[in-house]
Amino acid sequence: MPEEKQVVRKKIAAAAEVAKFMAEYYLELDKAAKAGEPKIAWCTSVGPAEILRAMGFLVYFPETHSAMLGATRMATDLIPEANALGYSPDICSYLTADIGAFLRGVTPLAKAFNIDRIPKPDVLVFNTNQCRDVQDWFSWYGARFKAPVIGIHTHRGVQKVTESHVDSIAKQMQALIEPLEQVSGAQFDLNELKRVVELSRACSDIWKKILDTAAAAPAPLTFFDGTTLMGPAVVGRGTQKALDVYKILLAELEERIRNGEGAVEDERYRIYWEGMPVWGRLSAHSKLFAGLHANVLASTYCNSWIFSALDPEDPFTSMARAYTELFIVRSDEAKEKYIKDMLDFFKVDGIIYHDAKTCPNNSNCRYGMPQRLEKETGIPSLTIPGDLNDLRLLSDEQTKTNVEAFIEQLEENR
Ligand code: SF4
Repeated sequence: MPEEKQVVRKKIAAAAEVAKFMAEYYLELDKAAKAGEPKIAWCTSVGPAEILRAMGFLVYFPETHSAMLGATRMATDLIPEANALGYSPDICSYLTADIGAFLRGVTPLAKAFNIDRIPKPDVLVFNTNQCRDVQDWFSWYGARFKAPVIGIHTHRGVQKVTESHVDSIAKQMQALIEPLEQVSGAQFDLNELKRVVELSRACSDIWKKILDTAAAAPAPLTFFDGTTLMGPAVVGRGTQKALDVYKILLAELEERIRNGEGAVEDERYRIYWEGMPVWGRLSAHSKLFAGLHANVLASTYCNSWIFSALDPEDPFTSMARAYTELFIVRSDEAKEKYIKDMLDFFKVDGIIYHDAKTCPNNSNCRYGMPQRLEKETGIPSLTIPGDLNDLRLLSDEQTKTNVEAFIEQLEENR
């Protein structure tokens, strides 16, 4: 039986550069919120950030803030505040924790960066490509701040992305320009959008290279590293700074590969993570798997900020395509093909499905996918019930017992 013990998890030095990037990002937003300029747009994490940036807005992403509420284990205690307003404990715990934090007047930005409140929006822009919850979430804040809420209503469960899907989303993106011009007071400049899309595409490409380093054996990074290293890809795509920090990170990971250094000492099992992270258990899960010489080295989640379709020469159409080709937008058949390609590329031994109670949109284990994929690939899987932010919805003991038994199964299968 594989024994859990304290295994060395090698720290990534460039994580300090990423942390510095995130600090500067939030401090710039805070400064703008206090000065009243530049204007601030809130955006969903896979929303049209490029348009907002090209129109001179600083862009704030509530999901990243709520992930911080989760990672700092503030979220669970805040969720009932939103429940009391009629937002069910069963809906997105990013939404409920974030609104709860606002109502309570707290933010993890205070301890991290000495920022006492989130930046007030001048406009809120959503894309329902990930879920409907983001629209409800942004609408609540829009009413609270008396700021306009505009968005893109996208297709869901898409098998093949067609021209008609792309056209309809591109048109909705173009329709955002006029209301955004009214808020910003500046005229839209197509060349500026092309410049930002070019930077965003470069960010996506380098982020992909970073994640792809995990195909090396041993893998130089883990999924748990990736969940925090992805900050610049989420909040900084379309900026030169995000690219600069990722160049440093990629160089470090490539050097690790040259030196044969793995992120987990004596890597024996290679695991794929499907679904959201459990933000309040990143460290615990990282230690649990490393202690069993298992490296959770790749995930659908971290790959969600790869937008290879972006093309500066055709910004609206390519953004529409990139934000519709995303995994979360697709049918189970398309998702299964994607995961199979990932299992091959990363040479995976087993899959963990996180069944996040409050996010059915990012939980892909409820309609027979694990069974179908195991039948086709022979790669076994384990489903962990839990949640992204609400720690009342998981059992640490059960998770530990099940993961240990799963790794034992992988050992026996050898
Ligand atoms: S995809 Fe899930 S976690 Fe993300 S905002 Fe929607 S419901 Fe919340």
